Parts: sequence; structure tokens; C-alpha cells
Amino acid sequence: MADIVDNKDRTDKKSLNFIESIVERDIKDYPENKSILTRFPPEPNGYLHIGHAKSICLNFGLAEAYGGKCNLRFDDTNPETEETEYVDSIKEDIRWLGFDWENREYYASDYFDRLYDFAILLIKKGFAYIDDQSAEEVSATRGTPTKPGIESPYRGRPVGENLDLFERMKNGEFPNGSKLLRAKIDMSSPNMWLRDPALYRIKKVSHHRTGDAWCIYPMYDFAHGQSDYIEGITHSICTLEFEVHRPLYDWLLDHIAEGPRPHQYEFARLNLNYTVMSKRRLLELVNGKYVNGWDDPRMPTISAMRRRGYTPVSIRNFSERVGVAKRDNIIDVAFLEHAVREDLNKIAQRRMAVLDPVKLVIVNYTEGKVESLKARNNPENEEDGFREVPFGRELYIEREDFMEDPPKKFFRLVPGGEVRLKYAYIIKCEEVVKNPETGEIIEIRCSYDPDTKSGMTGSQRKVKGTIHWVSIDQSIKTEVRLYDRLFIDEDPAGKKDGTDFKDYLNPNSLKILKDVPVEPSIIGAKPLNKFQFERKGYFCLDPDSSSDKLIFNRTVTLRDTWAKKK
Ligand code: ATP
Ligand code: MG
Repeated sequence: MADIVDNKDRTDKKSLNFIESIVERDIKDYPENKSILTRFPPEPNGYLHIGHAKSICLNFGLAEAYGGKCNLRFDDTNPETEETEYVDSIKEDIRWLGFDWENREYYASDYFDRLYDFAILLIKKGFAYIDDQSAEEVSATRGTPTKPGIESPYRGRPVGENLDLFERMKNGEFPNGSKLLRAKIDMSSPNMWLRDPALYRIKKVSHHRTGDAWCIYPMYDFAHGQSDYIEGITHSICTLEFEVHRPLYDWLLDHIAEGPRPHQYEFARLNLNYTVMSKRRLLELVNGKYVNGWDDPRMPTISAMRRRGYTPVSIRNFSERVGVAKRDNIIDVAFLEHAVREDLNKIAQRRMAVLDPVKLVIVNYTEGKVESLKARNNPENEEDGFREVPFGRELYIEREDFMEDPPKKFFRLVPGGEVRLKYAYIIKCEEVVKNPETGEIIEIRCSYDPDTKSGMTGSQRKVKGTIHWVSIDQSIKTEVRLYDRLFIDEDPAGKKDGTDFKDYLNPNSLKILKDVPVEPSIIGAKPLNKFQFERKGYFCLDPDSSSDKLIFNRTVTLRDTWAKKK
């Protein structure tokens, strides 16, 4: 992937992360024709978020770096919460990030027959039994980390009876929750996951792919490692909360697998401040209409970030730079925004827009005259060339760029003072017109100096401030949506004081500006096109725009709070 700035050549990197070290150790012993195989295993019960992006970049990135492959596997073993809509959005997001699973799109549900056979194998070996206890009884007899659990009265069931009951469970003879298939391991193991964990439960629910073919479904622990094994995964990389499952992962494969086996490695999940990152909570925000859907630009989902104007390159750079940690940590969301700005600075063309307009009239400029001025599209990229910007007698400037009573160091427009209009002339403020009732400034009257046209050769007067503007007659009126953080607290979901994460929603996270004038070269912008509105930030054309109504989402402001901290 040539467009990733920090990750082009791995030999440039100072040190390997711990997973890369493991892979490098392992591939030394691989025969010629073998390579690594990783997988990204989303459960299709919601849209992917930036944490998933981290996992995608890690899994696909490792495969890319070491000449291997990465499978996409939907971990679809909970039929109640899973939907095809989510499957589609997940695929779109991974593709957008720039990764390709080729034809390796797999579903744990494709393996239901084989998983069932593995269960039978375990029963036959005496390693699994049918328990008639209720879920409550099973959980009440599990013990605590310091107190052993109590063995189920059904633990000693003969193999033949277990096989018969399991088949009848599959045939739908028993109601939901009346029976469980459990592994027979050790009720006094210090690892709670080894205390006869459930492998299969009865759920008379239709599945998004297998329909009503099954009424028993495997548990995560009896699907994930087995699917890894079936696919021939070499490195099964997951987040730290699965570390305690690893002995079970290995135990099950000990009794099922023949030949090469996958190994599980855990890394710390990505956490961001001011952000909630669990699909359950994000779903709550969507269902409760706290946001306008999964791709509301305030959400931490990949689809929301795309809509807001983040680029795949910026997300991949961010993922690479946060590294792969073994301990939980929290990343400053400003670091993500920094990565976004850095990429947009290079690729976004500049335009002028006035978010809070006040009228400015150039009294000595010929009425009706329109001049076409040359403006550079992107100072960071010569190839982007120039555009024409119309200039006339009546302009809009930002209300905040004029002050009647300025503090020291205010270098913009003041009564009697001069300022440069970007790409145009130096103007001088001659007069201010106010609404007699409210005192609000409704017009600023200026003169211009025709000898100060930007780009003119010869001696040029210099002034301290330069401001942007838009010619009123040629301006295009647009809607602009300004976003702030969705939460006002750094850790909205981590409170132990009984408050809910929704108590920390930022009431000012969205501000909509109507009739924002933009220079006319904005016509023809396509959905998701990105611009820097000079001095105002990066903006992205919302896909809900039409040719009569352009809607811009502010991606980020220009102020880099992360770079400042450094
Ligand atoms: P959530 O907890 O947000 O609901 P999940 O872990 O249940 O997410 P899955 O669909 O099961 O979501 O996750 C798919 C893969 O993405 C898993 O391998 C998981 O470990 C990884 N993943 C999920 N969240 C993060 C995160 N914040 N950082 C890194 N990887 C993550
Ligand atoms: Mg999960």
C-alpha cells in the first residue's frame, strides 16, 4: 500500500511490535510454500468502529507484511442480534480501508455441521455431557475464583445417553434453556473458563444465513477456535479479554484437532478518550435516537468517520502509530484528529467560505464590476494548480474578523485599519453601519488600494493580517454542520458512581449553519469530496447533498491540540 506514509518499508522501522516478533520467530520454521494466515472475525451485530479498524489494520497488515493472507470471517453464532445489514456494512468498511479478503469470505455458520461433529467427537471421548440444569443453576454452581464450583448431577451421564440427548436437542425436542452441552473439564480449576463451560445451547431462533435449519447454536468458545482450525489460521489475534479463554481454546483443540493448529495471541484493545466503543452502547445511541444513525458523523464508527471526511490513509496511519500494546491504555482522540489533519492538509483543495457572514462594501470599487482572481488550490501540492475566484464590490467576511474595539495583537480588520483580503487587495475600514435598534453591525464600508493586488510584481505593501472572503453575488449558499465531541467527559462509560454514559452526552455536539456562502468553484463537488475552507477547517461534502443543497460536514478544525501538547 504505497500511500501509507509511515509504514511503507518495514525495514525502516526501529523495532517490531510483539506480534511481529512472534510471526518472525514462527515463519523461520515454515516450509517454502507455507505463509501466515490471519483473520478478522467480526460479529455482524453492529457497525464497525475505530477499534475494529485497529484490528483490521493489524490482521490484514501482518498478512501484507509477511506475504500471507487474511480471511474475513463473520462470527455469526448469536442469531438474535445478527443481521445482513451489518454484514454488508462491515464489508464496505473493510474495503474502504483498503484491504482485500479476495474470495475468503467465511461465516462461522458455514461450519455448523462440522462444529456439531466436533461436539459429537468430544461426547464420544467422554469430554462433554448434556446438563439439564437451568442457566441459573449452572451459574450458581460455578463457584468463584477462590471457591471451587460444584459438579453438575448430570456430569456422569453415560456417553450413549449424551449422544441421544444431543441429537434430540438438535431435532428441537426440548424447549429453550432446558439443556446445555458442557465440556467436562475441571469444576475446581482456578481458571473459571475451564469449569465445564457451555458449548451449545438451545435457541429456537432463525439465523440470518441458516434460517431455521438449526435450533442449537455453539457458544463463542466452541466456534472461534474451531473456525480458526478449520480455516488453517496460523495466528489468531484477539483482544486481551480473551486471554483467560486461551486455556479453553487450547484444551478444545487438544481434543479435536489433528495436524497444524492455530495459536491465539492477545493485544490491548484500542480505547479513545471522549468516546464509547462498544457496539452495545453504540446501538443504544442509534436506537434511542441520540444520534442520526450508525453513520452520524459524531459516532466512532468507520462509516461515520468516512462520512465526516476522515480518509483511509489517516486511519491506517493512526492505527500503525498507536502501536500494539500488551496492556490496556487510553489514546487521546486528538491524536486521531492529528492523523486526519495531516493527510487532509496534503490532499484537500482550499476554498473560501464564510461561516458567520457580515457584509463588506468596497466603496471605491466600480459597481457591477467582477474581477477574476487566481487562487492556489493547494499550497502543499503544486499539481493541484489554480482556480478563479470572483471578486466584486460587495463581499462577505467573517463577523469575528472585524472588531470595533480590538485588544492588542488583533491583526484583522479594525476601524481605520488595514487588512489583506486573501488572493485580492489590501482594504482599509472607513465606516461601520449598524442596525439603529440593536446596535448590530450590518455593513462594513472599506476602500481598497488597487496597487496591492495579490501576485502583482513590484513593491508590495505589507499588512499584518490576511482574511478570507466571498463575493456576495457569485456566492453559493450551503449548509454547514459543525461537530464537537459527542461526550463531555473523557471516560463516559467508565464511571462507578451509578451514572450512565448517556448522562455525559454533549448537548452542543452538532451545530447547523444555514446559508453559508462559499465561493462558486464549489459547484460540481461530489459526495465525500474534501476541502479546506481557509482558516475554518476541513470539510467534506455530505452524501445527502443535492445539486440545490450542498451540505458540508466539518471533519476537523485547523487547530491541532495534539501537536501542541508535544
Ligand atoms: P465491542 O466490544 O465493541 O462490541 P466486539 O469485540 O464484541 O466489539 P467483534 O465483532 O467481536 O466486536 O470484534 C471483531 C474483532 O475486533 C475481534 O477480534 C475483536 O477483538 C476486535 N476488536 C473489537 N474492539 C476492538 C478494539 N477496541 N480495539 C481493537 N480490536 C478490537
Ligand atoms: Mg464480540
